[in-house]
Amino acid sequence: MNKALTIAGSDSGGGAGIQADLKTFQELEVFGMSAITAVTAQNTLGVHGVYPMTPEAIIQQIQAIGEDIGTDAVKTGMLFSSDIIEAVSEQVRKYRWENLVVDPVMIAKGGASLLQQEAIFAMKTYLLPLAKVITPNIPEAEVLTGLTIRSAEDKKEAALRLVELGVQTVVIKGGHDEDESESTDLLYDGREFHTFTNKRIQTKNTHGTGCTFSAALTAELAKGASVYDAVLTAKEFIQAAIEDGIEVGHGHGPTNHGA
Ligand code: PLP
Repeated sequence: MNKALTIAGSDSGGGAGIQADLKTFQELEVFGMSAITAVTAQNTLGVHGVYPMTPEAIIQQIQAIGEDIGTDAVKTGMLFSSDIIEAVSEQVRKYRWENLVVDPVMIAKGGASLLQQEAIFAMKTYLLPLAKVITPNIPEAEVLTGLTIRSAEDKKEAALRLVELGVQTVVIKGGHDEDESESTDLLYDGREFHTFTNKRIQTKNTHGTGCTFSAALTAELAKGASVYDAVLTAKEFIQAAIEDGIEVGHGHGPTNHGA
């Protein structure tokens, strides 16, 4: 069976983070494994507490997998600090895990910080050069490039700059586009630009959208898909997951990983 590892934070509410990743891996029929970087106390109303693990605890989880089970693809989500990013990068390099998807998680929808400001440097320096694919939303792409992204041209410029940091393929997600009727994702592989436009779905149940998309992409890479095909499948998966979002709790419900 193909295997996928998520190195990310736990969301007690079950909608994002490790929980979204494992549900998505299961749905796409890959064997899911996890190394937890931080525990969050969280529900549909927001993040109430963040408890990072020590770098040693994270290294040990990754080594336990690397020394025995191995993996066909890896994704990173919430990494929280420079120390954690450096530790994770070193392990990914050590095991030569080339199918690496980096979801540069920074801020939860409610505003809680999932990545310390000073960790941006470590992400750009140590982790991004190892990435096969990076999946920033527009605010994350702005932080990583220093650009303000308003237009399709701005998105292209940001993608060019991210490839200059050593990433092989960039997918800038259009969920934060200003257009109210549709959103456009941009894929750039260092040679060609591709765009994917979808109708916007009116819903408040979008918690965990980014995690779910990058997990679906990782699962497809684990099964041997090309990056382009993996992005197409992940797009279909997330579109269905948003259309079928789950009404639980009193705030932003999660996307439906089993849609
Ligand atoms: N909590 C954790 C642990 C996450 O990894 C993420 C992922 O981005 C979030 C929360 C953010 O969820 P959202 O902004 O979709 O509500």
